[in-house]
Amino acid sequence: MKRKSPTEPPIDSQKTLEAWRLLFESETYKNDLDSLPGNGDPVFGFEVEWEDLTSYDALHVKFSEKMTETLLCGNQVLKEQYSNRNMATRPVIRVVNLPDDRAYEISQLRMRDRTRLLSFDAIVVSTSPIIGWLKTSVHKCNDCDSKWTIQERLARPREKIKYCRTCLDVIISNMESKKPKSYHKDPTDVSMVTEENYYEDVQYLEVVSPDMLENGMAANGESFQVVVFDEYVGHFSKGDNLTINAVVAVDPLINRDFIRDTRRMIYLQAHSVEEGFSHNKPIQIDLSKQESLS
Ligand SMILES: [Zn+2]
Repeated sequence: MKRKSPTEPPIDSQKTLEAWRLLFESETYKNDLDSLPGNGDPVFGFEVEWEDLTSYDALHVKFSEKMTETLLCGNQVLKEQYSNRNMATRPVIRVVNLPDDRAYEISQLRMRDRTRLLSFDAIVVSTSPIIGWLKTSVHKCNDCDSKWTIQERLARPREKIKYCRTCLDVIISNMESKKPKSYHKDPTDVSMVTEENYYEDVQYLEVVSPDMLENGMAANGESFQVVVFDEYVGHFSKGDNLTINAVVAVDPLINRDFIRDTRRMIYLQAHSVEEGFSHNKPIQIDLSKQESLS
């Protein structure tokens, strides 16, 4: 929970931070940033070409293998670039134009594809209401005032916080000493700092592929769920032709009968969304057909 020196990122992150810094300071991105994209917006999706990632310490490999950590570093560097230009906007990196070998047909997805970052042509058949989720929660120890942040998981129970690491470390090191104390403060006296919690907007889209429209799967009521975040929320509507670059994830069934049901369904966690298909001709779903899709 707490690193020995919290201000010093591990070597691996330092290299990643440096790679992002070089990318954003390159001619193309510097010019792009100088035009102040998203100025005035609370959050802005800043597009980065996949191809460009390959030129900076194999960022594309890091990005596909350790997406969360790599993006965390990238977004930190990008935020600095925005702050340097006196912009209060929170920029989010959106990697676009994934290579052809990442293109995938949604209806072919299986459990073995879990955690892969793939690119899909998809048509929106319905959109959910906009909701929020607790992305990071902040906790503090009421004894020693230590404070720490927990990365929560979407649609999963909130992490249980049992004790303060700092207080516990003190107790453990004391127990190992020659004259252990007989009394210790309670290391479990912790509480959540709700005003410092971080919430993110999310929305679920039901989508089908052009193939699914053709082969009758869509008419049969089959569809896939995509979850979109931040600036994409509230942005799409029924009938939109999109390229969705997403991580394949699994979720418990919605209509499960018992809580520890092991059955899972595949859904897509969108990283970036591009208007239009990348691999199919555009499709207009006719309204009569559309009704039976939702
Ligand atoms: Zn403590």
